[in-house]
Amino acid sequence: QPGYDTQAIIEKDKAHHVHPWQVFDVFRDEGALPIVKGEGSYIFDSEGRKYFDAVGGLWCNNIGLGRKEMAEAIAAQAYQLSYASPFVDLTNIPAAELAAKLASLAPATLNHVFFTCGGSTAVDTAFRMIHYYQNCRGKHAKKHIISRINSYHGTTYASMSIGGKPGDHPPEFDFISDTIHHLSYPNYYRCAAEGMSESEFVDTLVQEFEDKIEELGGADNVAAFFAEPIMGAGGVIVAPEGYLKRMHAVCKANDILYVSDEVVTAFGRLGHWFASEDEFGIVPDMITSAKGLTSGYQPLGALLFSDEIWDVLNAENSGRCFAHGFTYSGHPVACAAALKNIEIMEREQLLENVKEVGPYFEQQLKTLEDLPIVGQVRGRKFMVCVEYVADKKTKALFPEELDIGKRVSNNADELGLITRAIVHLNVMSPPLTMNKDEVDFIVATLRQ
Ligand code: PLP
Repeated sequence: QPGYDTQAIIEKDKAHHVHPWQVFDVFRDEGALPIVKGEGSYIFDSEGRKYFDAVGGLWCNNIGLGRKEMAEAIAAQAYQLSYASPFVDLTNIPAAELAAKLASLAPATLNHVFFTCGGSTAVDTAFRMIHYYQNCRGKHAKKHIISRINSYHGTTYASMSIGGKPGDHPPEFDFISDTIHHLSYPNYYRCAAEGMSESEFVDTLVQEFEDKIEELGGADNVAAFFAEPIMGAGGVIVAPEGYLKRMHAVCKANDILYVSDEVVTAFGRLGHWFASEDEFGIVPDMITSAKGLTSGYQPLGALLFSDEIWDVLNAENSGRCFAHGFTYSGHPVACAAALKNIEIMEREQLLENVKEVGPYFEQQLKTLEDLPIVGQVRGRKFMVCVEYVADKKTKALFPEELDIGKRVSNNADELGLITRAIVHLNVMSPPLTMNKDEVDFIVATLRQ
């Protein structure tokens, strides 16, 4: 018996703790479920109930919760050196070691790392570095940023403006709208015209990108393109074959920086350290990462960028200073956690496990498509989702007030399975340790 006063915790939380994306009217009544313990892929609530967390926290629990080795590495670093300023004249050993390690794991030309507090601040850092870089090159008109509808890039002012989820852009908020533009997103299931092949669909998306550059007065005015290799929060959208390569080629042909937002896809979710090159065959100019970097044991993000950008920033006798950074950039405890996290992934060959179990997960989950309310099961390896429809033929959605994703996930909770509801979807990104029996449990539970 855990012995927590669950109601008292819920009341304190409701009164004082404002949650991300809190829907005030719902939260006022329902509050949030207190989670008190984590062990591997399982979380336990304050009433002692156990759940398989198929969401991996928030796409971030890659090695599993509650590892003693991680706690010891974090404690040892906190005891040895809990903090040192990262500002130029000082460094710390975990930050230096981690930056070198990331450079060794990243595509060959991405050898430089700027540490941040998480994913949004990595995207924000990319945004600022892009403008700094283009100005340093004398390309002062290269100001426009292009991304996609339904992309998610974080929650700071700039990263949310780059993101394009309509639900996150209500009129009550302001956004950077004069220099940030959103293209269509590559959702073949929902957005391709009747009878259009995948390659024809890609043609239209590439054409739209080229037209947008033209509309903005040409490539001299366009600084960068941002894209997640697989859109995460926007509904686990895997673009049709060739899309990312062709969008990348447009960037290269037009001297536009390609930023691959790998906050979700890096560190094993698709069976690679970074998915851009190994899964999709592109070498971006910048990669933003966070989440799986520490598996959520400590908050940390990292922007990786190319030698080419570095050479401009680092030009001799230029007097340049990239006036940007956080008190917690390169935090020693967070970097020590990341190093241990990567060591565990290497030792336990977790990327290999994702390559082996991932296709089984995709295949088994796909069997749910015989259910009358399942429109599509999609995703890749350990990043998947189920889309519910009211009518399979027309792909019509259930009315939003029915909250179908939430209803299914609430029922799954009762059966000991956590999935993430996003309107008419259930999204999953389980720990990389997941085995085939656990896949069977997820699929059987969702079917039930
Ligand atoms: N970029 C992507 C692709 C994400 O999925 C997220 C978070 O889900 C972010 C950026 C923002 O990361 P954070 O919440 O750590 O700031």
